Amino acid sequence: MIEKRDFYIDERWVKPATPSDCEVIDPSTEEPCAVISLGGQTDTDKAVTAAKRAFEEWSRTEPSYRLAFVEKILEVYKSRAEDMAQAISMEMGAPIDMARQSQVGAGTWHISNFITAFKSFEFLRPLGDHAPNDRIAMEPIGVVGLITPWNWPMNQVTLKVIPALLAGCTMVLKPSEIAPLSSMVFAEIVDAAGVPPGVFNLVNGDGAGVGTQLSSHPDVEMISFTGSTRAGIAISKTAADSLKRVSLELGGKGANIIFADADEKAVKRGTVHCFNNSGQSCNAPTRMLVERPIYDKAVEIAREVAEATEVKSAHEAGRHIGPLSSAAQFEKVQRLIQKGIDEGARLVAGGPGRPAGLNRGFFARPTVFADVTNDMTIAREEIFGPVLSIIPFETEEEAIQIANDTPYGLTNYVQSEDGQKRNRVARRLRSGMVEMNGQPRGAGSPFGGVKASGRAREGGVWGIEEFLEVKAISGWAAE
Ligand code: NAD
Repeated sequence: MIEKRDFYIDERWVKPATPSDCEVIDPSTEEPCAVISLGGQTDTDKAVTAAKRAFEEWSRTEPSYRLAFVEKILEVYKSRAEDMAQAISMEMGAPIDMARQSQVGAGTWHISNFITAFKSFEFLRPLGDHAPNDRIAMEPIGVVGLITPWNWPMNQVTLKVIPALLAGCTMVLKPSEIAPLSSMVFAEIVDAAGVPPGVFNLVNGDGAGVGTQLSSHPDVEMISFTGSTRAGIAISKTAADSLKRVSLELGGKGANIIFADADEKAVKRGTVHCFNNSGQSCNAPTRMLVERPIYDKAVEIAREVAEATEVKSAHEAGRHIGPLSSAAQFEKVQRLIQKGIDEGARLVAGGPGRPAGLNRGFFARPTVFADVTNDMTIAREEIFGPVLSIIPFETEEEAIQIANDTPYGLTNYVQSEDGQKRNRVARRLRSGMVEMNGQPRGAGSPFGGVKASGRAREGGVWGIEEFLEVKAISGWAAE
């Protein structure tokens, strides 16, 4: 069993002030695979103190100096790719090949994109020709607390740590207690890159402990959080007393509007996307809205895709999906599948229980419901499992209305060969992102949502600006 009880504080691995062991469970086997410690107030204080001290110098370094460390992090990250993939696969159940490509690859992608965005980033900007002696200075906000979930561990860690470093902030990262191992590999990478003492710190812990200690800490200026809407609300309330900036990336219930004139692969693509990462993605297209003329055919294609989706251990090579990440997640998904049946949705594939032949591990069956109405629980709540809900629609207006009738607003999807219709619909969807005809967003595009999906923007220039304060200066001398 892996023993990783120490925290990374002030460029050293240190023991927790008070022992508090927490087992990391391999979701493919339900067996403990590692033990970590949950930190307490003393550990949090120690990390924040180190970050506060380091801020004095780090915040005043040249951008090129900070960029060099991030470039080094990218180099070491690439050299540790296999360790990272193994850690992610074991801690949260991403199949090993998928962990190597998508999970680890997401980190490489974000670090590279931040490097590109940063090279033309301006920390001192003119206000305009009308005010030649005004300058707008972008300045690091201070010590930041970074709280991340388990579903895409390196995606989220790199989307926070890298822009915070580039902006000139110092930080304390608290990864998910369910998937902490990859973040500890990441701390080793930051250490190997030679980032100065106190700039980056990691303390493991749970939400009630280190999570709350960070969001209430008087010396932490900002919390950047990714996770559930429930925790986002709790953090906002806790952070209010010290007037912190709170940046939230929360859940989603994405609509995938498939018009009758969509390309023939649209339904298959949408179903595969929904099941990717065992459905544990905040931007998953979980509500498939299908125009009536192609509805029956779409239900049939989705059923075929679900039945062809293999579910296996994360440790096996191949293109299957793995288990859900935890017992709690497994039970939640089972409860919601049963709820779908009880509320009268038509089960066309999958259903409750484990797939045949798997009686251990948190494996769920790829499930498709048809004839779902948008008021059913499975259309409203984020399930976070391989469960697709198909809803018919008659008109463009009705599709937009159903898509927007949700508390969430992260990513919506549109499939149509009619470009003008696609553009029109995209502008009317209430979400932070719209992806159309299977085309992924480009490098440096901002990731984030509206409404209950949170209002942060991560990635590219927007992701760096999240960690900066804007200072307006007048009377600036000509240089
Ligand atoms: P979670 O909210 O339970 O936990 C996320 C992190 O927050 C963990 O590190 C946890 O320890 C911490 N935490 C929990 N309660 C806290 C509190 N009261 N104060 C401070 N910290 C607290 O979520 P999860 O189960 O780990 O992740 C799944 C959720 O995250 C889903 O709802 C998913 O949609 C969402 N998510 C959103 C995005 C996005 O970018 N929008 C990305 C990934 C996941």
